[in-house]
Amino acid sequence: MAGNWKMFKNPAETTAFFEKFLPQVAGATHCEIVLCPPAINIPAAVAATAGSRVEVGAQNLYWKNEGAFTGEISGPMIKAAGAAWVIIGHSERRQFFGETDATVLERTKAALAAGLKPIVCVGEMLAEREAGETEAVLHQQFAGGLAGLSAEEFARVVIAYEPVWAIGTGKTATPEMAADAHRIIRGRVEAAFGGNAAAAVRILYGGSVKPDNVKGLMAQPEIDGALVGGASLEAGSFASIVNF
Ligand code: PEP
Repeated sequence: MAGNWKMFKNPAETTAFFEKFLPQVAGATHCEIVLCPPAINIPAAVAATAGSRVEVGAQNLYWKNEGAFTGEISGPMIKAAGAAWVIIGHSERRQFFGETDATVLERTKAALAAGLKPIVCVGEMLAEREAGETEAVLHQQFAGGLAGLSAEEFARVVIAYEPVWAIGTGKTATPEMAADAHRIIRGRVEAAFGGNAAAAVRILYGGSVKPDNVKGLMAQPEIDGALVGGASLEAGSFASIVNF
C-alpha cells in the first residue's frame, strides 16, 4: 500500500503525520507500507519511520548519478537519504513535465542500479478510454517503459495501473474495470518475461482510492495493492486504507 503525497506537506507536517499514522498501522503485517513525500521531506520521513515497518519513497529521480542537472535528484542521493522506493512515470509527470515511455525506462534502470524499488505507473487518458484505446495504450507504455529491462531487473519492479481520468477526480475505476486493465498488463508481462514473472509481479491500482472503496478493489485477485494520492495525506484515512 503506497501513498503519493505529490506536492503537499513540509518537514514538520511530515513528522506530525507519522506520529499519528504509525500507531494506527502497528498491527498491519499483511502488506508493505510506503509513503512517498516530496523529496525535501524524505529525511523527516525516514527519521519518523525508523524502527517501524513503514518505508519511504521518492516521487521521481533523474537517471544520471550526478552532474550539471539543476533541480534534479539522483537514485544514489535518494538511497543515501534512506528511502527505499521511487515512483516513476506518474501521469502528472507525463502530462506536465514531458515524461515519455523512453524516459520511464531510463529512470527505472537508474532506480534499480541505485538499489531502489521502482513503482512504475501506466494508464490511459479519458479520451483514449472513450476511443477504445486502453489496451493499445497499455501495450505501448509497457513496450516502451518496461519491456526493455532484463528479467532480473523486471523482477524488482512494481507496476501501478492508474487510469488518468480517475486520478484526483473522485472517479474510481470499478473493481472490474481495474481488474481488466491489470489482466492486460499481466498479459504483457507474460509475453515479455514469461509466466512466472507474470504471476509474481505486483500490480497496484491507483485513482481515487478511498477508505470506502478500497475493500471492493482489493477483493479482485488481480489487484495486489493500491497507490493512493489524496487519501494518503491524512493519517486516519491512509491507515483505514492500509487496514482495509
Ligand atoms: C496518485 O497520485 O497516484 C493518485 C492515484 O491520486 P488520487 O488517489 O488522489 O486519485
